[in-house]
Amino acid sequence: MRILVPGGAGFIGSHTCLALLEKGYEITVIDSYINSHKKSLQRVLDIVKRNNRVKNISIDIEIADIRDEKAVEKLFIRYKDLGNPIKAVIHFAGRKSVQESVLDPLLYWDVNVNGSINLLRVMDKYNCRTIVFSSSATIYGFSNSLPLKENSEIKPINPYGRTKVAIEQILNDTYNNQTDKWKIANLRYFNPIGAHSSGIIGESPIGIPNNIFPYITQVAAGILDQLSIFGQDWPTLDGTCVRDYIHVMDLAEGHIAALEYLNNFEKKLVNLNLGTGLGTSVLELIDTFEKVNNVKISKNFAGRRIGDSCKVVADNCLALSCLNWSPKRDLEKMCLDGWKWQILNPRGYD
Ligand code: UDP
Repeated sequence: MRILVPGGAGFIGSHTCLALLEKGYEITVIDSYINSHKKSLQRVLDIVKRNNRVKNISIDIEIADIRDEKAVEKLFIRYKDLGNPIKAVIHFAGRKSVQESVLDPLLYWDVNVNGSINLLRVMDKYNCRTIVFSSSATIYGFSNSLPLKENSEIKPINPYGRTKVAIEQILNDTYNNQTDKWKIANLRYFNPIGAHSSGIIGESPIGIPNNIFPYITQVAAGILDQLSIFGQDWPTLDGTCVRDYIHVMDLAEGHIAALEYLNNFEKKLVNLNLGTGLGTSVLELIDTFEKVNNVKISKNFAGRRIGDSCKVVADNCLALSCLNWSPKRDLEKMCLDGWKWQILNPRGYD
């Protein structure tokens, strides 16, 4: 079964491509490489070849933006003509920086929303109506009680989050049209960290990382001087913010489980939280990283970051009950694998 993976060269996308290939799916990736690296998918292939002792495995890669309708359509035509049509899409393509989205909202609305509309239009034209979409926990409002459920209030506070809500709404409207039978899973990610256990693929942010985990690994490696902890006066046990960190391979496997779940139905729309359900504070994360890897993270306390939430933790019961999936790798494994990737690749894919 052939799957189209827009944005498949990025952090979560590349780990999902690996999981797809290991389960025997054929994949085609369309990626602009604006925020990702050419080497990631080559490395995915290296891992699959090594683990499965197979030589003739490939990923068809199209370097293009999903706003480019002709480029997307070309792929659907190619596989239709080959008698191996694209059956489903796992859609990662889009811009993902909250800060950048505040500075350039039009870019975010254009790439994320127009790109998704374009993709859906082409899918519809070629009778491919199964899609797993990368949504985000940033869509939930601050005042919700925890853990966050799929029906908690949706109230994003930045343009990035609002584009994710808009795409979910577009998918919802698409699903509700009377004529076509769509199968749609909106996967609301919590905080993916870590790397594949081989240390061959991982997160390779361009420039100074915004997210805490690559920041920690780069401080531990001596690339960055010190981690600033944003706030020590939050109403949590140790005063630092709490997040639900999930191993990127557990998240990747969640996509395949969602795809396989959708395939049980003739028509389906589901929103699912993909998190572990466990909250970890910034200090607990640093402490675990230091202990399991026997390294020291130089750190200081800074003021709160504008727009941060105190606690973001998933209620993952719906995903656990619907999908043949559960997160298997704990925080220690996330820290071990993420550090392995960092020491084997001090400059990421560069
Ligand atoms: N954080 C921090 N220092 C950093 C980056 C992040 O203390 O350099 C904190 C941030 O305030 C939040 C947590 O780490 O509480 C996770 O931040 P990240 O940006 O990784 O994810 P998000 O805020 O999107 O959940």
